[in-house]
Amino acid sequence: MPDDVVRYAVDGPIARVTMNRPEFGNAQNSAMTYALDDAFYRAAADDEIAVVVLAGAGRHFSAGHDIGTPGRDIDRSFDRRAGLWWDHVGKFGGDSRYAREQEVYLGMCRRWRELPKPMIAQVHGACIAGGLMLAWVCDLIVAAADAFFADPVVRMGIPGVEYFAHPWVMGPRHAKEFLFLGERIGAARAYQLGMINRVVPPEDLAAEVTTLATKISAMPRLGLALTKKAVNQAEDAMGLQVGMDSVFGLHHLAHAHNAEVGADSLAGHDARSMRDAPQRHEQGDRDQQPGER
Ligand code: ZN
Repeated sequence: MPDDVVRYAVDGPIARVTMNRPEFGNAQNSAMTYALDDAFYRAAADDEIAVVVLAGAGRHFSAGHDIGTPGRDIDRSFDRRAGLWWDHVGKFGGDSRYAREQEVYLGMCRRWRELPKPMIAQVHGACIAGGLMLAWVCDLIVAAADAFFADPVVRMGIPGVEYFAHPWVMGPRHAKEFLFLGERIGAARAYQLGMINRVVPPEDLAAEVTTLATKISAMPRLGLALTKKAVNQAEDAMGLQVGMDSVFGLHHLAHAHNAEVGADSLAGHDARSMRDAPQRHEQGDRDQQPGER
């Protein structure tokens, strides 16, 4: 890959896509978004690849969207490809915000969910807010026992991250608790909620994912693609897509309200203030979590 914020490696029938901003907990800037898209497109187009694994380099899977690293590139234009909406650069207020988030968050996540090959998220450490979106678009999620998950953006006055899959991935009642509290849940709890497939000792994580991917790769390609589509269609029939569209409007009402009455669309929060906000920590060291949202 020309852009090393994402690494791409082929291991037999497995494409390993690794987010590679470990110094920032793999906080997702637009450069990473488009590098991920390049990687997924490459894996989809390569007939030798049967399964895609998404992982994070360093201590964490993903600390979320980049809201405060030196590489934050919110004002840059990229080659838009999730939809035909106009570029956000040079626009203002909701015009800019809606265009950008439609493309790099909601649009890209939807595009990746439709990749016609099984995708496995290999999660360790933090999987926070925007990081959840990356794990959720994968078909299977395998987590190390030390992994933890949270969507704390209600603290910004915002009803969850842009790809609002919460009620579908953990059920409505647990989704409310998860969002109302904004606290971390550990891998064992995430497994109880049905949000992830397997919890394994950290030292076994990569091997477990490889074993799973290798077994899946023995299935016929079209059978896997159609099965994935079948389950996704069932999930859509349960309201996933239309639900996310309606909540995206609420999400942007919240951004606009914040911008109207406060410091900015994030209610004046950045990675540091979100990290330092009072909350119960189930496990881990909160100093290891930059760039969360
Ligand atoms: Zn947003």
